Amino acid sequence: MAILSPDRPIVAQIIVTRRCNLACAYCNEYDRRSSPVPTASLLRRIDRMAELGTAVITLSGGEPLLHPDLDRIVARIRERGAMAAVLTNGTLLTEERVRRLNRAGLDYLQISIDNRAPDAVSKKSLSVLDHRLVWLASLAEFQVTINSVVGVGIDNPEDAVEIARRARGLGFTSTVGVVHDNKGQVQPLDEAHRNAIDRILRLNTSLFSFAQCDQFQENLSLGRANHWHCRAGGRFVYVCEDGLVHRCSQQRGTPGIPLESCSAADLVREANRPKPCAPFCTVSCVHRVAVLDSIRERPAETLTAMLDRQKKRNPGFEASWLVKLLFWLFVNPRHAR
Ligand code: SF4
Ligand code: SF4
Repeated sequence: MAILSPDRPIVAQIIVTRRCNLACAYCNEYDRRSSPVPTASLLRRIDRMAELGTAVITLSGGEPLLHPDLDRIVARIRERGAMAAVLTNGTLLTEERVRRLNRAGLDYLQISIDNRAPDAVSKKSLSVLDHRLVWLASLAEFQVTINSVVGVGIDNPEDAVEIARRARGLGFTSTVGVVHDNKGQVQPLDEAHRNAIDRILRLNTSLFSFAQCDQFQENLSLGRANHWHCRAGGRFVYVCEDGLVHRCSQQRGTPGIPLESCSAADLVREANRPKPCAPFCTVSCVHRVAVLDSIRERPAETLTAMLDRQKKRNPGFEASWLVKLLFWLFVNPRHAR
């Protein structure tokens, strides 16, 4: 299992097209003209990531639903034994598209929604997407997470709270992201934005929902640095449209080596390298991978801290049988190794 083997990637994010049908003002990850990456190249990249032992392969862009062979690419990920995820703006979803993603075996889909109604910054809006969320709630056989965004350039942080409530009401999980600059670094937040993050984090009731890994967002919203080791380039890799391996979307060019010649030793070296951008980094998927590594390396300390945070946010929190089992295995002094 990738999580137990420190030399394998937990998550690989593969760009299937740089093109997007939207043009969010804060985004540095899209263009308006690129062609889809040839399917044969993508299938080879998936095979190579599978050979390296990757657990989760996430298809991203630009807008990945613009790729005409997305279903085939998802199916290949599943055939190679990895979990398949798609990060999308959701605007191209149709009922038929949801059914096709079911048939392809998709495990997980994330939609980012920025505001209630379109504005000059973003058209990823609840009013545009709500009927598509209803289709997903009734048809999707995969897990759906709705990510809302707060921070500088987002005028109404209350929108993020409403979006998260709607997501929870439809049975989805919700996360919150902080807008970053073009290097993935945080911008200072005012009280209204900090308050919105706090209320969204309180909506989550599961110890192991992705949102419970978002302690780092709370620190960033308060202007506090996070003390963590970023393992991007090894435990998380970003494969761009040209087939080069980078640490993450915000550190493209580093190391920038071709995937076909990337070895397990390259991954370990990059994972171990200190990253000066780490203290104020907002790249949430890499933080989540770091939480999994913390559970592997320091299970008792990490699980106890997660449980304490959850009880602080939700005093009525009741641990599930899975959480109790993990505590029995790792935290109870009579059984801990
Ligand atoms: S939808 Fe996503 S990829 Fe497209 S411009 Fe907006 S943030 Fe960027
Ligand atoms: S800390 Fe890691 S994830 Fe964040 S910007 Fe730097 S390399 Fe990327």
